[in-house]
Amino acid sequence: MALPKKVRFLIVGAGVHGLSTAWHLARELRARRRGDGTDVLVVDKTGVAAGASGIACGVIRNFYYQPAMGEIMRVNLEVWESDPAAFHFNPVGYLAAVGEVQAPDVQSIYERQAATGFRSTFVRGESQVSDYMRRIFPDWRARGLTALIHEHQFGFAWNKESMRGLAQKAQAEGVNLLEGVEVTGFARRGDGSVGIVLTSGGPIEVEQVVIGAGPWIKRLWGMLDLPMKIDIKGRDGKIYKDNDMWTFWRLQEGEMKMDVRSYVTSDGKTPPVIHVDSSEPLISDRTGKLITDHLWGIYWKRDREGVQGGGVPEKIGPDAQVDPYGPASPYYTVGEDFADTWTAGLAHCLERFKGCNRLYDKAPSGGIGAFAADSFPVFDSMLPNVFVIADSNHGYKMIGVGREVARVLMGESSAVLRPFRFARFTEGDLHPVSRSPFPWS
Ligand SMILES: Cc1cc2nc3c(=O)[nH]c(=O)nc-3n(C[C@H](O)[C@H](O)[C@H](O)COP(=O)(O)OP(=O)(O)OC[C@H]3O[C@@H](n4cnc5c(N)ncnc54)[C@H](O)[C@@H]3O)c2cc1C
Repeated sequence: MALPKKVRFLIVGAGVHGLSTAWHLARELRARRRGDGTDVLVVDKTGVAAGASGIACGVIRNFYYQPAMGEIMRVNLEVWESDPAAFHFNPVGYLAAVGEVQAPDVQSIYERQAATGFRSTFVRGESQVSDYMRRIFPDWRARGLTALIHEHQFGFAWNKESMRGLAQKAQAEGVNLLEGVEVTGFARRGDGSVGIVLTSGGPIEVEQVVIGAGPWIKRLWGMLDLPMKIDIKGRDGKIYKDNDMWTFWRLQEGEMKMDVRSYVTSDGKTPPVIHVDSSEPLISDRTGKLITDHLWGIYWKRDREGVQGGGVPEKIGPDAQVDPYGPASPYYTVGEDFADTWTAGLAHCLERFKGCNRLYDKAPSGGIGAFAADSFPVFDSMLPNVFVIADSNHGYKMIGVGREVARVLMGESSAVLRPFRFARFTEGDLHPVSRSPFPWS
């Protein structure tokens, strides 16, 4: 298909948000007899799943301290569960075990989940946590974990396959998808709205734009003349001036190659995704030396060829080379200490992972994430006809955000998107902060 001169809805980015929005928008237009998928065009400078959605570990969880994140996860889960085969969704469960410092947070997460109908199990007390884990893995040996939540409806999905599944659903509704087309600028009208989108393939006249540019959001944000520094009204009522709107972190993930048949539960099943935050001394599986005796955190899942997971990300700052996904980019590989920390954590938890450091796969993994000033998403109409979906790196799991955005574009309001409006910064309506070592929990 050649680049059209005009389109009603132009969506920038063929990651989870762009594709989900396109698919749901096509369905909404058809259901309301206000058009159909052919009114929607998705452009991507590279292609489907070329960004963060195609390299994410694929963890899908509800382990969030912030009530608004829990609410939006209900919508996401509905979409994942609507067609697990097409989305390559594996609801094997998600299990997080933490030390005493985070135990009250986990208890409140569980209580909220139980009150709102999610199927989760909560376990409190060190010996009770150990017993629960040993029923799943007889060789579980981590100490000092005093609270656990097991989210039975969650798990993981295969990253690229799920994006292809989404793209097929959108295309089946008539949505057009053009790969290799880069958005390079916006021509604005007098009222501030965008009239023409400039692309590498030529200008396109538009009625409505949706931005789903993942870690490239800062570049698009700049093209739209949106503020790079913002004032924030804190939860204490004070105004904090000149905060960077976007800051980059290096998301550290890796894989160890092993025969996956040796990584099953005691009843021979695929294990849940596991997350552990602990303050127990972490001893290197490679050198036998102490890595840290402060709070550390890791997560992992069974992959096709071994075990894949990650740890606490590293902050880069407001400036980064934001084309992280080319093999030549230095930001594609994880920091040097990551393999040591992650494999030490694995060996700390499971006897069978002792000596796993030598199985660590040095292939490139991990990537860059763009985080908003408070590390939570911005889902909002930033100009009269430009909706921005910038998930602050929470988002592979957020496959349902596009459904809400599509409804907003049809003139409805969305209670689950509202807590993520841009005005929360000036209104001081911020999300509560947990005691997790991760910036996104
Ligand atoms: C290493 C890593 C692991 C992660 N693990 C998880 C996880 O386990 N679970 C989870 O929920 N989240 C995870 N995340 C976060 C998650 O991947 C992202 O939040 C989410 O995928 C962002 O989706 P998106 O659609 O906004 O962006 P992307 O998937 O990055 O898609 C954006 C698209 O926009 C295109 N684009 C950019 N600029 C332009 C332009 N100017 N013109 C045209 N096209 C453009 C890009 O080519 C790209 O395809 C992880 C992230 C990373 C980096």
